[in-house]
Amino acid sequence: MNCQKYSELESEVRSTLQKLKELTESQLAAFRACDQPEFIRLDKELEQTMGAKERVIGAFRQHAEEHNCQARSEGKPQTPSPLKNQERASTG
Ligand SMILES: [Zn+2]
Repeated sequence: MNCQKYSELESEVRSTLQKLKELTESQLAAFRACDQPEFIRLDKELEQTMGAKERVIGAFRQHAEEHNCQARSEGKPQTPSPLKNQERASTG
């Protein structure tokens, strides 16, 4: 099943994660170089990107769930797990 929205969100997740990785590497470089202003600038950017990542992953998962359009769904049977009350385990 092909879903336009799904692939859009998928590539958004990918690029956001990629950006996080690059920012993290840049921040590490700034840290090593003792470049305080750059370090702080990157820290703020990382924080924003982290927030964006959470939003985009949330949207991605929500869409896949609501629309039921996961790219590689092989229709695995969803067995409902019966939550039985655990009976008293007899120890001794
Ligand atoms: Zn969809």
